[in-house]
Amino acid sequence: MTVKRSRETEIAQAYRHHDTETGAIMPSIHPSTTFARDEQYQLIAEQFSYARDENPTNIVPENMLAKLEGGEEALLFSSGMAAAVSVFQALSPGDHIVAPAIMYWGLRGWLIDYTKKWGLDLSFYDVANPDALSESIIQGQTKIIWIETPCNPTWDIIDIENAAQIAKSCDAKLIVDSTVATPILTRPLEYGADIVMHSATKYLNGHGDIVAGALVCSKKDKFWEKIRQNRVQGGAIIGSFEAWLLQRGMRTLHLRVIRASETALKVAEYFSNHKEIHQVLYPGLSSHPGHNIAKKQMALGYSGMLSLRIRGGEESALKIVKACNIFIRATSLGGVESLIEHRFSIEGEGSPIPKDLIRISIGIESADDLINDLDRSIKK
Ligand SMILES: *Cc1c(COP(=O)(O)O)cnc(C)c1O
Repeated sequence: MTVKRSRETEIAQAYRHHDTETGAIMPSIHPSTTFARDEQYQLIAEQFSYARDENPTNIVPENMLAKLEGGEEALLFSSGMAAAVSVFQALSPGDHIVAPAIMYWGLRGWLIDYTKKWGLDLSFYDVANPDALSESIIQGQTKIIWIETPCNPTWDIIDIENAAQIAKSCDAKLIVDSTVATPILTRPLEYGADIVMHSATKYLNGHGDIVAGALVCSKKDKFWEKIRQNRVQGGAIIGSFEAWLLQRGMRTLHLRVIRASETALKVAEYFSNHKEIHQVLYPGLSSHPGHNIAKKQMALGYSGMLSLRIRGGEESALKIVKACNIFIRATSLGGVESLIEHRFSIEGEGSPIPKDLIRISIGIESADDLINDLDRSIKK
């Protein structure tokens, strides 16, 4: 008899993974770098030959993520950047990439450098202009439309369905960096994306103790096989201990993301009329320009990420960050502990981030404690 299970049930039980040999409900870690062959020189398990190609520890978290995203297959990488880089390395010289003007800065910087050296064309488009994406397309040349939603650190929302239609119109792949939304809030493949990318360092793992990345495809086509080859040949696979920690972290993903989203909305609402703050950037607020699209493509919440723009400018922003004692002053996001940062200081000169912006990653602590900590730090 098949019993219907909701995604939160499935994820908590890692889709009912059991070790068929021992009955263990937790998977084993396989540190082995190589895999034996029998006397006929056949591999014992066909898919495992050498651990840079595929590692048995990856199977459980890769299956969990593929199912969560509703994709055909997932691949784990040594970092979010390694995952993203493997996608762009599947292109050929002369191909054209379109990406949002504001996006994860590390990838933005890498793209600018890499495309110049490797003969790829790159256009950044303004997310706030509804026609900018379709105007950036070059028929016959654009091969990747890369989007990030909500996008870091303004939390602008990009309409995935619309981007997918534009990608189809020029035969490009739509890749979505869904690190912030997670499959709990948005499943980009359902809106027509070809590949979903995650920095698994963030919400998927959720405990600030591994660096990891992931890609999930809607279907295993030639482009995907090229990406797999890039992971194998470029050596970008995740380590087995990290893969094991990731499957453990993902079991509580639903709980963590819902809690962080609920608290982030409370924090955003509390500070939206505060006299020292001239703008709260959070897609869950009806005042946010992306709110209606967010309502369409996000369910159960709007993520734990928000930014505050401080009326007193850079100096006041830094003072607030300094005065916090519950929020931890650190970069990164998506962990159980709340983090605060002055984003411009991290990105440095040349960054498009306003100097009055404080970026906040809400964890799972008490909402009242977090609000009090910020409120007190702003008054100081
Ligand atoms: C952190 C991050 C990345 C890069 O991932 P790493 O795991 O640090 O390599 C990419 N995109 C977003 C949105 C991120 O937050």
